[in-house]
Amino acid sequence: MASGAASGVDGAVVVVFDFDRTIIDWDSDDWVITKLGAADAFQRLRPTMRWNALMDRMMAELHAGGKTAEDIRECLQSAPLDAHVVSAIKAAAALGCDLKVVSDANTFFIETVLAHHGVLGCFSEITTNPARVDADGRLRISPFHDPTAAPHGCRLCPENMCKGKIIESIQATAGAKQQHFVYIGDGKGDYCPSLKLGEGDYVMPKENYPLWKLICKNKQLLKAEVHPWNSGEELEKTLLKLVSKMITPPAQASQFDYSKCEMSNPASTEVGHHQALRVPH
Ligand SMILES: [Mg+2]
Ligand SMILES: [Zn+2]
Repeated sequence: MASGAASGVDGAVVVVFDFDRTIIDWDSDDWVITKLGAADAFQRLRPTMRWNALMDRMMAELHAGGKTAEDIRECLQSAPLDAHVVSAIKAAAALGCDLKVVSDANTFFIETVLAHHGVLGCFSEITTNPARVDADGRLRISPFHDPTAAPHGCRLCPENMCKGKIIESIQATAGAKQQHFVYIGDGKGDYCPSLKLGEGDYVMPKENYPLWKLICKNKQLLKAEVHPWNSGEELEKTLLKLVSKMITPPAQASQFDYSKCEMSNPASTEVGHHQALRVPH
C-alpha cells in the first residue's frame, strides 16, 4: 500500500481516518452512482441486497451501460475535497504521525481521490474492501471480510467489515511500543473501533452524525477522549491540537530518562520531543 509518510515518532501517534463523509464531505458510492446515472438501478436493487454486494452489482450496471473504469476514475476526480482536510493530512504526516484509512468504501475509490489531491503518499495503510478492474474492464468490489468463509462475528458491524477488528490488529502490531490513536469518523461503523480505544486515545466524531449520536447515548462506554468537529476547518484545528499535545506531552517528557540518551548534543532534543521519546523503546 501507499507509503512515504514521515515517521519522526516511529508510529507512536496513529491517526485513523474513515473516508466517506470524513476525509471527503460526501459519500463516494453515492457520488459515483448518482453522477454516472445509475440511481434508478440502485433504488430498485437496494431492498434486495447488502451494501457491499450491491456496490459490486452497481459497477456491473455501469459497465453494462458503457461506463468504463476510467469514467469512474474521472467522476471521482471531479468531486471536491476540503482544503482544510488536505492540509490537516499533510501537517499530521509532516509531524510524524502514522496515517491510516479504515473505510467501508473500496481501494479504487479511495486511492483515486487521495492520489488526485496529492495526499495518497501521506498514508501508510488503507484498509478497505478490495477493488480491481477485471479482464472485461468492469470494476469488481469484494468484501474485506468474507462473510461466508470467515465471518468476523461482531454484532455491531456490517458482515463485510468490522472496523473494531481492524483497530485491534493495528494495536497488536505495536507490541511493546507505546501507541496513541486518534480515530476520526462519522458513521455507525465507526462506533465499534471507537470502543476499542483506550485511555490516552482520542475519538473525533463528526457532530450530529451517527457515530456522535451513538457516543452521546452513553459516554461511559468509551475510554478514549471525545472531540467532535463539524467542518473541515474544525477537523484540521482539532486534529492538529491533539497531535501536538501527544507529540510533546509534558508528563512523558519529564519521565524521559536522559541517561539513556546517546545524543551528545542535548540541544538536538529541540528538534522535536518526539525524537527524544522514541529512544527508550
Ligand atoms: Mg463515513
Ligand atoms: Zn465490530
